[in-house]
Amino acid sequence: MLEREQEPGSPWRVEPLGMRGLFGASVQALHRRGLLEPLHEVPDTDQPLRPRGVGHFAGMMLDPADVDVDALPFRLPSPVPEMVMTSLAAVEAVLAERVVKLGVEIRRGVTARAVAQDDETVVVGDGEREYAARWVVGCDGGRSAVRKLAGFDFVGTEPQFTGYQMLATFADPEQLAVGFTLTATGMYLRMPGERRIGVMDFDGGAFDRSQPPTREHLQAVLRRVSGTDVTVTDVQHASSFTDRAMQTTTYRSGRVLLAGDAAHIMSPLGGQGLNTGIGDAVNLGWKLATTVHGTAPAGLLDTYTRERHPVGAAALDWTRAQVAVMRPDPHSQASQRMLRDLLGTRDGTTYVFQKVSGAAIRHDLGSDHPLVGRTAPDFRFEDGTRLSDLMQNGRGAALDFTAVLGDSAARWENQLRYATGPATDDLGLGAVLVRPDGVVAWTGADRREFEQAALRWFGTPQG
Ligand SMILES: Cc1cc2nc3c(=O)[nH]c(=O)nc-3n(C[C@H](O)[C@H](O)[C@H](O)COP(=O)(O)OP(=O)(O)OC[C@H]3O[C@@H](n4cnc5c(N)ncnc54)[C@H](O)[C@@H]3O)c2cc1C
Repeated sequence: MLEREQEPGSPWRVEPLGMRGLFGASVQALHRRGLLEPLHEVPDTDQPLRPRGVGHFAGMMLDPADVDVDALPFRLPSPVPEMVMTSLAAVEAVLAERVVKLGVEIRRGVTARAVAQDDETVVVGDGEREYAARWVVGCDGGRSAVRKLAGFDFVGTEPQFTGYQMLATFADPEQLAVGFTLTATGMYLRMPGERRIGVMDFDGGAFDRSQPPTREHLQAVLRRVSGTDVTVTDVQHASSFTDRAMQTTTYRSGRVLLAGDAAHIMSPLGGQGLNTGIGDAVNLGWKLATTVHGTAPAGLLDTYTRERHPVGAAALDWTRAQVAVMRPDPHSQASQRMLRDLLGTRDGTTYVFQKVSGAAIRHDLGSDHPLVGRTAPDFRFEDGTRLSDLMQNGRGAALDFTAVLGDSAARWENQLRYATGPATDDLGLGAVLVRPDGVVAWTGADRREFEQAALRWFGTPQG
């Protein structure tokens, strides 16, 4: 792994500025590799999944009590919650520790500046040295050098606003309301008990972002947007962002792949960026690993773009939809009023919750069954074994609640964990095939169908 920063822990990655919300599938993905505990205490007992801290749409808060939990499909109690607040630094530390344990070397202070590939190899250069590999994954953020150097097309929409986040001291902070405040020219966010302020200014993205914003500029924007004469006395850290929403047209070009912000950038509205990036990484990891080991079924790596590009596109649209109702023009304001009414209904809140929490994400795997393509819920057998226990070694799992698979699954024993027995709640399913990324690949009660699905996703059984 090549990483530009010499040291982890920049102020932008630790709390409060680096605070991030992880939702459903990201929380489960970390839990299924034993990586959640350093970020969040995991009890041994199952808890019913309850929407909590479910976020907002365009600054309009959702009330968790208004989510119709019965309308949400395929939910099972789990020891882990629906949402975990953490920081970028904490997530990075957990992942860094894991890759080092797996024998990966992290070379810090190395900036990718050149990428060249042929049919066999990709070479990344930093100006001094060249690093050759069979595959390269660019996870180098929104300004990705790998994306540019490997010639990916990056397309989308230009910004409507400039946003700022700052850690600052105010002479009269009480002038600013706590929480999200939508105003006639934008929105500001003041976190309770903190000096962290976010502000969005509908300037058409006009601010020159090559320089950090000054105290005077931040104060002028904050005064204009909030309609107050609040005084910013000192700025400890400040940065700007926009709602530019761009995505590469593919996530793979030959031997170069992209994941995270390198493949898609969007405004922070709705907290989708990190969650989408973790989803990319989890989807790609096992596909690339089996490709490298030569055991992947034909075409597996190309399912990465096919599955994740639509998820990225939907996340971009989700942030665009919020911008469209926040703009100060009368049409947008009218739409905002209508949406506020809809969010006052149970169905409206439930719909938005499914989008914000990622519960609506379903990869198209070509099956009509509504569970196939979704992250598997944490099934639990009556002997107490959970799906998350079976997945700790990074393989897939075949869960056979009604003993319909017989010795079929045993043929894939080097690629899949097989478990059979009654579940505390099998959701009416006979058997379920779960991929290493936690996504349900198949469900049914026919062993021949199971074998076809196992061949499709895991290839020929490895003896
Ligand atoms: C204010 C704010 C709030 C947000 N809140 C949320 C939230 O609550 N939930 C959520 O899901 N998302 C949120 N996001 C978005 C989220 O932070 C990003 O989507 C996420 O951090 C992207 O992760 P990444 O690993 O793809 O890229 P980055 O975090 O940008 O990491 C890229 C890494 O690559 C390294 N690098 C860059 N260039 C090179 C190079 N040339 N060579 C070598 N190394 C390089 C960098 O040093 C860095 O370590 C928020 C964003 C902002 C700005």
